Amino acid sequence: MECPKCQARVMTSAKFCDQCGLNLVENVEFLHRKAVDLYHRGQIDEALTFWDRALEYEPGFSKGHYYRGLALYDHGDLAEAVSAFQQALVGEAEPFRVWFKLGMAQYGLGNLEASVESFQRAHAINPGSAETLYRLGLSHLRMSELDAARTSLEQAVRINPKYTRALYILGMVVAQQGDQGEAIDLFRRVEAVSPTYTAARFELGMALFRQGKLREAVEQFDGVEAVSPRFAPAPYMLGECHRKLGVFGEAVAAYRRMLELNPDDAEAWVRIAECQLQQDLLDAAREALDKALAISPQHAEANYLKKHLGEMATPHKPGF
Ligand SMILES: [Zn+2]
Repeated sequence: MECPKCQARVMTSAKFCDQCGLNLVENVEFLHRKAVDLYHRGQIDEALTFWDRALEYEPGFSKGHYYRGLALYDHGDLAEAVSAFQQALVGEAEPFRVWFKLGMAQYGLGNLEASVESFQRAHAINPGSAETLYRLGLSHLRMSELDAARTSLEQAVRINPKYTRALYILGMVVAQQGDQGEAIDLFRRVEAVSPTYTAARFELGMALFRQGKLREAVEQFDGVEAVSPRFAPAPYMLGECHRKLGVFGEAVAAYRRMLELNPDDAEAWVRIAECQLQQDLLDAAREALDKALAISPQHAEANYLKKHLGEMATPHKPGF
């Protein structure tokens, strides 16, 4: 470490600077440097004790409050982090990072309106920060303010057109607004930049599915399953696509792959039964419905289909 006054090298544990005699134990900057050093090594509790001490000597030490807030935030102590950042704002000449981090902590606490205000303050200081606009968009989204979320996210991706997380969330917002075509374009942009972004590729499949582009959706979900074989929603949606396309054998195979990952999903068994009914495989359908009802005895559709299955079998009774 260096002495904050004369820059001579000093031991971390030194009480005075050998060179200039500075009292290091009571020097706010030296305490801060010690704390930052510990913080970067992951020794957060120890770091906090040095910031606490620095702030005892100089309660208005903005940098100390800010870093203390970062450490508390990392610790998951968000309420304390908010109060540290608020103290850091007092007398801070360049408060962009502080407003941003304050917004993050408020968002984490679910204090969304406050987070919106903090991100807006950060944005006003640094309008070129795509990250701030992205976070602002997330806050609006969690408040179900879709139009405001869209505006912020569109600004973010205008600043950084390859900002995949922002493109992805924007796609989700636009899809929720019912604009599937625009959502498809956005998810394709994510896919182009980051082909292993499973969630975006899956949502692209969903947007295609909602648009009735089932064959394109199959291609998409196939790709997701290939990249992320343990992601159960992909084979389930493949089952849905194939079922709607009338390719019942493929559909059943896909639902079964889904059930290997998630054996307690009654819904998949009901869909399998539906496919088997379409193929006149009544015994297999009954078996599938029994599996569904074993998992979820009150499942309305399973109970309905099982009753219906009885009626389908009755024509063979004597007297009909
Ligand atoms: Zn010195």
